[in-house]
Amino acid sequence: MALIVQKYGGTSVANPDRIANVANRVAKGWREGNKMVVVLSAMAGETDRLLALAKELADDPDPRELDVLLATGEQVTVSLFSMFLKSQGLSATSLLSHQARIYTDRAYGRARIIGIDTTRIREELKKGRIVTVAGFQGVDEVGDITTLGRGGSDTTAVAVAAALKAELCEIYTDVDGIYTTDPRIYPKARRLARISYDEMLEMASLGAKVLEIRAVGFAKRYRVPLRVRSSFSNHPGTLVCKEDAEMEAIPVSGVAYSRNEARVSITRVPDRPGIAARFFEPVARANIVVDLIIQNTSVDGFTDLTFTVPKGDLAKTLELVKATAREIGAERVLSDENIAKVSIVGVGMRNNAGVASRMFAALASQGINIMMISTSEIKISCVIEDKYTELAVRTLHDAFGLESPPPRRP
Ligand code: ADP
Ligand code: ASP
Ligand code: MG
Repeated sequence: MALIVQKYGGTSVANPDRIANVANRVAKGWREGNKMVVVLSAMAGETDRLLALAKELADDPDPRELDVLLATGEQVTVSLFSMFLKSQGLSATSLLSHQARIYTDRAYGRARIIGIDTTRIREELKKGRIVTVAGFQGVDEVGDITTLGRGGSDTTAVAVAAALKAELCEIYTDVDGIYTTDPRIYPKARRLARISYDEMLEMASLGAKVLEIRAVGFAKRYRVPLRVRSSFSNHPGTLVCKEDAEMEAIPVSGVAYSRNEARVSITRVPDRPGIAARFFEPVARANIVVDLIIQNTSVDGFTDLTFTVPKGDLAKTLELVKATAREIGAERVLSDENIAKVSIVGVGMRNNAGVASRMFAALASQGINIMMISTSEIKISCVIEDKYTELAVRTLHDAFGLESPPPRRP
């Protein structure tokens, strides 16, 4: 008998039929004698619908009230799910975040889980019940509802699995595993049997939304065995686990892309100590995460500064940066939203030379201009024109031969 945490995403609970289908899968695991904790997302499209509703009444909805609203999506699915199980004569209960005792900080809309008191979940399991926990939501120190940010139900699932020391955490979604790149962008993408925590962390942070980045961080920290599977098939999917020698032998294991960033450039910035800090301090104070940064070498005591921020934060960033530019006498502030970031990821990059030059050559062969480059130990990212995103993903996938499985080591 095992304790298993399963999470089902929005498409898996998109309508009553699918909820029943998923509930039957869970019931099977329960009948086999496992303790089952199920984390559910809202029905597909529901969180977007609620967001749009909020925007109809307020340009900049109050974050506390917005979280009260957004959390309702998951309340609907967990109640329907448990209701169905009970109607089938099974023992089940639904828990919202205050009942499951998922405690977060007060950062509405992007709250962090700071602890889970598993007493109630364990009591319910002891009673032999299938426990269904609302994903994406938490409760802060004064009892207010918070949400964890888009895709946050993955994080709920992994955090609950870690707190319960579950044998396994399964993330059920609309693809049957983690692929070398988004299979919707490139049908030649290959499903991976395994991927390391570090590679998945990079893939998630670089735009692969198949797993939410914080979920992968929790899984790595607490060594939660994590499996991504489809709720529409019985395929075993992909295991996210510790890296091993076989993974290290492959220089590139995946290609990710993000269309979520915008570029800001400040021209003719006086090149003096402290100038970069002057620009970035107000941006950081506004909780805006700056990604790539480039500063040119100084010419005549002036330099250009370019960086990227999430598209949703562009307006606020421009306001802050323009104010600083005026104060210090920089020439102009420009911005560009038609950009995308394509990245290659692989733990084997650490000991393989020439990966970057192969990437640049592949993009050049298609006439794709690189605007910015950033590297870390296990990834290389290039900012390009948005219209080339799909072409770039396909080109890089081909250039690194990701379609065919790597040769087995003797
Ligand atoms: P859910 O609603 O179940 O949480 P998401 O839409 O958040 O599902 O994540 C699944 C989607 O992630 C897939 O439909 C796929 O288009 C996308 N995706 C992006 N990159 C990858 C990848 N490398 N492997 C698999 N899926 C990916
Ligand atoms: N319902 C939330 C969202 O759409 C959380 C999730 O599905 O993981 O982002
Ligand atoms: Mg998701």
